[in-house]
Amino acid sequence: MLIIARTTEELLNLRKKENKDIGFVPTMGNLHAGHISLLDQALNDFDTAYFSIFVNPKQFGPNEDFNRYPRTLEQDISQIESLLTQYPQKTVVVYAPQNPEEVFPTNERQTVSVTNLSEKIEGKIRPGHFDGVTTVVYRLFDLVKPKRAYFGLKDYQQYVIIKQMAKDLNLPTEIIGMPIVREKSGLAMSSRNQYLTEEQKEEARILYRTLKKIEEILGKSPRNIQQAQDYINKVLFDPNWNYLLIVDAENLSEDISASKKVSILGVYQLGKTRLLDNLQVEFI
Ligand code: AMP
Repeated sequence: MLIIARTTEELLNLRKKENKDIGFVPTMGNLHAGHISLLDQALNDFDTAYFSIFVNPKQFGPNEDFNRYPRTLEQDISQIESLLTQYPQKTVVVYAPQNPEEVFPTNERQTVSVTNLSEKIEGKIRPGHFDGVTTVVYRLFDLVKPKRAYFGLKDYQQYVIIKQMAKDLNLPTEIIGMPIVREKSGLAMSSRNQYLTEEQKEEARILYRTLKKIEEILGKSPRNIQQAQDYINKVLFDPNWNYLLIVDAENLSEDISASKKVSILGVYQLGKTRLLDNLQVEFI
């Protein structure tokens, strides 16, 4: 069954009636197979999954694409319906608030911030972005009260920050990181891929290919870090890279001398579109 809540009041009334634990998937809509994989896992784990579709103004900078971010509620709903045919006994509650005041009635008063982690890497390029993310996720958790919430590893820094928030604030929600769903070309699926021309989509292959190459050079051994770094330094001559880094997978530090697991994080920019991707490598 699929139920749509267009207001917070409707959402809270539905949530009140629930007597079992639920899973939760927060999104900004314009769904693709990556988002659906998160919902699929939530429906595997619970009888009822809550799924939010909300383009959160707080996580967009002043010159970013908030206004032109694709809003495709009808298509999103049919994708969810189509997944639900595999789960005839289960329920999805879609929370699709019609305006930001539904989510943030007291608007500017509260901000949730995970300092340090939020200012690094992507946070340096998009100041305030992660505060916008943690503020909305905290708020949504408070409304939905999920047992588990599912996030894509596609936004790796976001995942680490939300995990840290849940730990620091002792939230009763378990944070689950889900694998990146990719196009056949290797390009990580993203709502922003539709901004790309066919030619740019071809060019975009370089992102995943480069991450795989670095993974190959590392070969699961910290001995090869210098060699990987030399390769990265060469790659970075291409000015389309916003960054390409190997960081500790737990704390995102660039000092990886004692790391057991690292994350290779890259952002490649084509026109105005910034493509994010990453890979995890465990040392043995
Ligand atoms: P968004 O709608 O872009 O805010 O994304 C909502 C959730 O879907 C986030 O947890 C993302 O990390 C996740 N997500 C986005 N793209 C992918 C992908 N290609 N594979 C897996 N998860 C994804």
